[in-house]
Amino acid sequence: MERDALLSGTVHPGGRAPAPGRLALVQMLVNTVDREHGPDLLADAEGLTDWLAARGLLEPGAVRGAAVSEGELEAAREVREALRSLMHANNGAPEEPRARAVLDAAAARAELRPTFPSEGPELVPGRGGVDGALGRVVAATFAAMLDGSWSRLKACPRDVCGWAFYDRSSNASATWCSMAVCGGRVKAGAYYRRRRAGG
Ligand SMILES: [Zn+2]
Repeated sequence: MERDALLSGTVHPGGRAPAPGRLALVQMLVNTVDREHGPDLLADAEGLTDWLAARGLLEPGAVRGAAVSEGELEAAREVREALRSLMHANNGAPEEPRARAVLDAAAARAELRPTFPSEGPELVPGRGGVDGALGRVVAATFAAMLDGSWSRLKACPRDVCGWAFYDRSSNASATWCSMAVCGGRVKAGAYYRRRRAGG
């Protein structure tokens, strides 16, 4: 995938609509890597700051690439993969044991605290920088878990895919990011394996 396409956060296989409201931010963090073909925006500090800037999460005056430490980059990848594993669980996979602890830790580092503006209550980070930005993603996850929209945010189960998609089907039964791309390939693979096994 083109780096700019990945950075745009607008790639939705199968013509699906993005996740609603702030949950789209969570989806966009998970979709910062094309696991099959690359690139990975979180492979280096520049990619992370470009993504933060694209999402409006980079603080004014921050220098792209310079403000991100190796530890913060690692934390961003860890939160991303914890979220992806919970999205796989939303799609029927067993839950990664450490995933929820990773989100707990990210929430603590961001010093999330409840606020009560007239638009509605929310958690906001007390910290800035990468910790604060990841805190906003975790806060959006928290809100979605409470309002029930979380369970429709799923990760595609094709091994090299893992793309996060929002399942708007009436009975929340969608499995693949795209039936044409991933569903079709997995089914074709199973068909050939059966034929070979059958001689
Ligand atoms: Zn897929």
